[in-house]
Amino acid sequence: MSLDLTTPQLNAIVRDTQDMGEELDTNVARTIAGYWHNGQGSAFYAFASSGHYDRDVLLRELSDAIAMAYATADADDRLQLDMLGTYFVNRELPPITHVWSSFGHRFISEDDGYESCLTCGAMYKLVRRTDDPTGGDYTAANGDDPMACTGDTGMIHGYAGEVDGEPHPDCNCLFCSV
Ligand SMILES: [Zn+2]
Ligand SMILES: [Zn+2]
Repeated sequence: MSLDLTTPQLNAIVRDTQDMGEELDTNVARTIAGYWHNGQGSAFYAFASSGHYDRDVLLRELSDAIAMAYATADADDRLQLDMLGTYFVNRELPPITHVWSSFGHRFISEDDGYESCLTCGAMYKLVRRTDDPTGGDYTAANGDDPMACTGDTGMIHGYAGEVDGEPHPDCNCLFCSV
């Protein structure tokens, strides 16, 4: 639902969200759309009032609003719309359906966006390709390819988010290289 906020309150929330490197909460996004809508037939209005919207129409309205804001509005207004744009881009990304290689690991997705191997427990990030949004590549902390899976269940790393014992010397996974 749209929130009942004054403009300074909304601006403070948007700035904090950006400072934390996070994306807008859906209710905040709907509140921004409610400020910027240009009529009850608009996709902004539909999103603000119901949460549903026509994506193509909404993206056209968003680019119009951004063009107008950059011509006339202040930095807080522009930030509101920039963050709203990021919100919609993130909403609509397709799932990653193919990877170049799993390097022998049997990856499962963790809740926090990481992938961990059922066999060895090594954890990597699945990074979406910019030129191929449904493609991804498993990546170590330094951007390298993963090491191949040892196949050694004795190497199991523990649970995602907590390092269990010493890092493994020959592993470049996110557990062992941070
Ligand atoms: Zn593995
Ligand atoms: Zn490791």
